[in-house]
Amino acid sequence: TRQYLVAGNWKMNGSRAANAELLSGIAARVGSVDRVELLVCPPAVYLDSVRAALPVGVSLGAQNLSEQIKPGAFTGETHGAMLTELGCRYVLVGHSERRSLYGETNQLVADKFSTAQALGLIPILCIGETLEQREAGQTEAVLREQLAAVIARCGIASFGAAVVAYEPVWAIGTGKTATPAQAQTAHAFIRGLLAAQDATIAGSTRLLYGGSCKADNAAELFAGADIDGGLIGGAALKASDFMAIADAA
Ligand code: 13P
Repeated sequence: TRQYLVAGNWKMNGSRAANAELLSGIAARVGSVDRVELLVCPPAVYLDSVRAALPVGVSLGAQNLSEQIKPGAFTGETHGAMLTELGCRYVLVGHSERRSLYGETNQLVADKFSTAQALGLIPILCIGETLEQREAGQTEAVLREQLAAVIARCGIASFGAAVVAYEPVWAIGTGKTATPAQAQTAHAFIRGLLAAQDATIAGSTRLLYGGSCKADNAAELFAGADIDGGLIGGAALKASDFMAIADAA
């Protein structure tokens, strides 16, 4: 059985004061959601201070890492070992904002996934189609391609220590959530792609839904048989919203 994971992707939001308030709000309610693994992914510059104030039982993750396996002359980049040293257990790779705004290709995402695992981090691989792709009937082809790049690079066994997040791009930050049926259909398809390679691995890999997941729709989304939690953006910035989503898992 797969343990639910509810992860907050803070994106480029936060401040010392806002982080402290958010963490104390999470801490106040964390005891009541012990069936669910909770994760916060603050901006990299706050990882150290967030770690110091992290409620017991909440995991820490980063939003991005360098694909470089060795540290060196890569100005502005963050090496994976720096993230593990700061207490990160997880790292997002291939978020759609990284893909669309910063030109990350399937190949680069696969390299980051590989490097994350090599340096002791659990990658959360984000995949998902744009509205244009969905309307053109390309959703399955896009998901297959995004996943295949990582399987080709890292092997199916690597998904034994990874999480996949299905985030339809048209649902991110738009308030347009995928319907529970749309989300479950995509998740079942993704699990099927993994199962075609290795059924045991596919059965154990957690698949998260992301995209305008809120307190009022989380329960129906998480009811999907192949939906093992959520990757939460906007609603992860308020403790009451984030913890209400965790309660729904
Ligand atoms: P929103 O929850 O703000 O739509 O963001 C989803 C997301 O991109 C999480 O990684």
